[in-house]
Amino acid sequence: MKKLLVCLLVFSLYLSCKNESSSDIKNESETTTSTSKVETAEFAIIIHGGAGTILKKNMTPEKEAAYKAKLEEAIRVGYNILKDGGSSLDAVEKTINVLEDSPFFNAGKGAVFTNAETNELDASIMDGKTLNAGASAGTTTVRNPINLARAVMERSKHVMLSGKGAEIFAKEQGLTLVDPSYFHTENRLESLKRVKEREAQKTNKIDTESAYLDFYDADIKDSKFGTVGCAALDKNGNLAAGTSTGGMTNKRYGRIGDAPIIGSGTYANNATCAVSSTGWGEYFIRAQVAHDISALMEYKGLSLKDAAKIVLDKVKTLGGDGGIVAVDKNGNMVADFNTAGMYRATMNDKGELTIGIYEN
Ligand code: ASP
Repeated sequence: MKKLLVCLLVFSLYLSCKNESSSDIKNESETTTSTSKVETAEFAIIIHGGAGTILKKNMTPEKEAAYKAKLEEAIRVGYNILKDGGSSLDAVEKTINVLEDSPFFNAGKGAVFTNAETNELDASIMDGKTLNAGASAGTTTVRNPINLARAVMERSKHVMLSGKGAEIFAKEQGLTLVDPSYFHTENRLESLKRVKEREAQKTNKIDTESAYLDFYDADIKDSKFGTVGCAALDKNGNLAAGTSTGGMTNKRYGRIGDAPIIGSGTYANNATCAVSSTGWGEYFIRAQVAHDISALMEYKGLSLKDAAKIVLDKVKTLGGDGGIVAVDKNGNMVADFNTAGMYRATMNDKGELTIGIYEN
């Protein structure tokens, strides 16, 4: 009997040791899972300052340095917000404000001219957590259209406001209004003149090539587009994206591009990614670029990189060009474009900064 009791004791000791070790293994495997979570970035931010024929041979070292410095200044604003636990929406808005206030980019202060020598600005923003979105189109007096887009999203029942109505709303919301002359810059006026001269020389005004040139921002030999945009992931796992632009040089008839169109210029969804586009807006609207990238990830399980490539290839097949910046829900960032260059920058949660202009 005594022997039997000793045997039982030894056996139960053996069992309890076995259980302990198997629970250790479970913990280990939990640790492995959380290690792969740690590999997931806590937060991330990516920006663009427009895509187009940006060639090194057309750049001076000074100009290049100035663009890079502005991109860095802008992205650091958003990075600091995210690092301090702020929201991706705040990071996107405040980062874009820096680019809007610079004459370098075709947004805010540096907006291109319409055919009528006015500046008509478009912007949009989207919250990936709620799928709420806001946009404004064709405004001429709102200093920072991205702030108006956010106000439309958060303080109105609507998604998109345009023209005079959008300006009345901006005033009611206490946003900074400026005289339209605030947006007049010599450089952009020169671009308009050059485009108009080229337009006047053309005989066949409706062939595609001509239509393209009529629209192009002929900034020196550098026909870049210059819209600005930002996509960010915050520490709470919330994604947001925003885009702001003056549109395309020589636009007329109240033309509105992709930048204020949710799903084309801007899209964010916590289930997938946040995207901001830049390029020839008509094609980006037709290809529904920003939403299509998210949809390929959501419905086909594609990576952000693969989804972006498929959609930009589609834009190219249609005859358009441009690029996107995007971040997925794990903090992977992608800057992709089918033009010669795209002003862009990224910062990850380790504070690592990359800045790019040309293809590589
Ligand atoms: N996508 C803008 C538009 O078509 C132009 C740009 O990206 O610079 O209005």
